[in-house]
Amino acid sequence: MGQGGAQRPSVYDNVMRQFDKAADLMKLDPDIRKILATTKNEIIVHFPVKMDDGTIEMFSGYRVQHNDVLGPYKGGLRFHPSVDLDEVRALATWMTWKSALVDIPFGGAKGGIQFEPAEYSPRELERITRRFAFSLGCSIGPEYDIPAPDVNTNPQIMAWILDTYLSMMPPQERNRSVHVVTGKPVGLGGSLGRDKATGQGIVYLIEQWAKDSDFDLHGATYTVQGFGNVGGWAARLLKPHGARLVAVEDATGAIANPEGIDPDKLAEHVKVHRGVRGYARMDLIDHETFLSTSADLFIPAALENQITAETASLLDVKLVAEGANGPTDPDGDLILEEKGIDLLPDVLCNAGGVIVSYYEWLQNKRSEFWELEEVDGKLQRRLLVAYGRVRDTARRVGTDWRTAAYMIALSRLERVYKERGIFP
Ligand code: NAD
Repeated sequence: MGQGGAQRPSVYDNVMRQFDKAADLMKLDPDIRKILATTKNEIIVHFPVKMDDGTIEMFSGYRVQHNDVLGPYKGGLRFHPSVDLDEVRALATWMTWKSALVDIPFGGAKGGIQFEPAEYSPRELERITRRFAFSLGCSIGPEYDIPAPDVNTNPQIMAWILDTYLSMMPPQERNRSVHVVTGKPVGLGGSLGRDKATGQGIVYLIEQWAKDSDFDLHGATYTVQGFGNVGGWAARLLKPHGARLVAVEDATGAIANPEGIDPDKLAEHVKVHRGVRGYARMDLIDHETFLSTSADLFIPAALENQITAETASLLDVKLVAEGANGPTDPDGDLILEEKGIDLLPDVLCNAGGVIVSYYEWLQNKRSEFWELEEVDGKLQRRLLVAYGRVRDTARRVGTDWRTAAYMIALSRLERVYKERGIFP
């Protein structure tokens, strides 16, 4: 069972159970299987930061580089108390599968700092971020390992990492290194459409699923867990389809209204109050009631291990569209299947973020700036190709969509390893 072993349920063990299922079914070459079951580099940095009151606090940061056979390591940075080696290994590994599935020339990585950013001032947050980037040093790089936003990180954090990284470069290298991070502010070389890309991708895929299932999104109901970048955008972009948001949960609590919650107004509230709590004086509902809310679509867009043996039976929906990474564990998957709930698995469903990160990286390398329509059009076409492959593989092999997505990703990696061979 992989490299897991943390005290809370190991997320990396989930990855390995998913991996083993697909690898067995497709008879993945046993040697290549050994390589892909292991992360390549695991970097842990402990670094001091001066607080506003003059005292020093120590922080632990991580960067796990799972695989780079298809291209530079790529993956987000998370600022959260749950960040540890087990979680980051899992998230890095999912990034490898994701890039391989949607056919972009990136490998998989992930990182973060184990802390609660809300407990620090903006100036402290900047110093923590910059000191982390300094500690990583040349472990990241525009052609080597390219971070992006994830939970509790955003374009501002990327701008600080960029500035710190460039400050460590010789002056003549700086202008050709801005693609060291993606998800930057547009003025610093970010791409139009990157902020909404993950949510936009989820909505493109839901549209396609609805078409395939003869399901009318107009009048459909949906619930969303996590109302940050991914959940907030997905919720808002579903509104023009005439779908109705009936319940939302985030770290501050959960609210519900069968008549519908306006996602645009909720986003305004969240911007000011940092959570859904208190929106339109709605009462909070408890976690179980949230999960049991009857709706057509459920978009988990917060953290891992939300749909499990204990909670999957509560769900009363037709489709789970995984915005988050790893929201469903392997036991949860079995229950969803038994209940006949369709699944758009994370490695497909939230791939819009890394796809538009790839477009940002390309624009930076070529000194280009693409129109939003171009970014969105390319995103949609690439995602729908991957969707078609996953659907057709699942039908042909007679397996679930997650396993089908893994099989496509692993086949691509297997092919490349066979072509390149193993040094020496
Ligand atoms: P974010 O920080 O913008 O939002 C996270 C949301 O989750 C917040 O609304 C927060 O309140 C909520 N949350 C945290 N703990 C919770 C809890 N215990 N219960 C309910 N809600 C909780 O982060 P994000 O970028 O939207 O990322 C969300 C998920 O999407 C993560 O799994 C991330 O890895 C994945 N993802 C993000 C991107 C991206 O482009 N940002 C791309 C692909 C996947």
